[in-house]
Amino acid sequence: VLSARDLAKAFGSNKVLRGIDIDVRRGQVVALIGPSGSGKTTVLRSLNGLEVPDAGTVTFGDADAGTVRGSGAGLTLDFAGNVGKREIAALRDRSAMVFQHYNLFPHMTVLKNIIEGPLQVQKRPRTEVVAEAERLLARVGLADKRDAYPFELSGGQQQRVGIVRALALKPQLLLFDEPTSALDPELVGEVLGVIKELADEGWTMVIVTHELAFARQVADEVIFMDGGVVVERGPAADVLREPREERTKQFVKRLQ
Ligand code: ATP
Repeated sequence: VLSARDLAKAFGSNKVLRGIDIDVRRGQVVALIGPSGSGKTTVLRSLNGLEVPDAGTVTFGDADAGTVRGSGAGLTLDFAGNVGKREIAALRDRSAMVFQHYNLFPHMTVLKNIIEGPLQVQKRPRTEVVAEAERLLARVGLADKRDAYPFELSGGQQQRVGIVRALALKPQLLLFDEPTSALDPELVGEVLGVIKELADEGWTMVIVTHELAFARQVADEVIFMDGGVVVERGPAADVLREPREERTKQFVKRLQ
């Protein structure tokens, strides 16, 4: 589905990404782990154009049939050259992000939060979009919260709405940026449970997470980043149970 090559990004003199490669195949779950400040969030945001890298390429392969929208055409952005608004918009259309702090619109109901993108950006028919939103809400156990406002919901409920909002866009790729790190411990499980179900269903996703036990359960590949580079990557069982690199060993030991 996705292939990113040699992504580089600096904020002023702070070189946050120093040449990152990522490949995500259809149906694969990739977990990005690493210490705070290692650049994980910046990688994720670069994959969908919320951050524009200084150099590197992001390529999306052909769109698949089924739940996936799109014309079927591939897309490559070369950030070393001139990347225009239209290309960024095309990139953004391929994936959907679930944010650490949910980022729901506070003045909109749950339903409105979910249908806004599909209606305004994707111009899909309202009846179809509302029916889909209701189906997805029921699926995550929030059918009765359709007309509630975000402030009336718990963090776990808000994040489940955040996930439904991403799903409603029918993206080729789901991006999760530390989806449970803002939650009270007792609410983490309900959100991880939903993400696990999506993984089992075959959704393609990249997840930035500090939950190593969860990464081991759902991820096909784990990428350990430090200082803007990939230190180690491989099957979850290898990287998390028997890391080769000293930096990975230290990190995994600290979090377990
Ligand atoms: P965390 O786990 O704490 O979220 P991370 O690995 O996701 O960390 P990033 O959020 O990608 O790391 O940040 C990497 C570095 O880039 C940090 O030093 C951060 O301060 C810096 N940074 C990120 N976004 C910006 C920005 N918009 N402007 C300036 N510096 C930024």
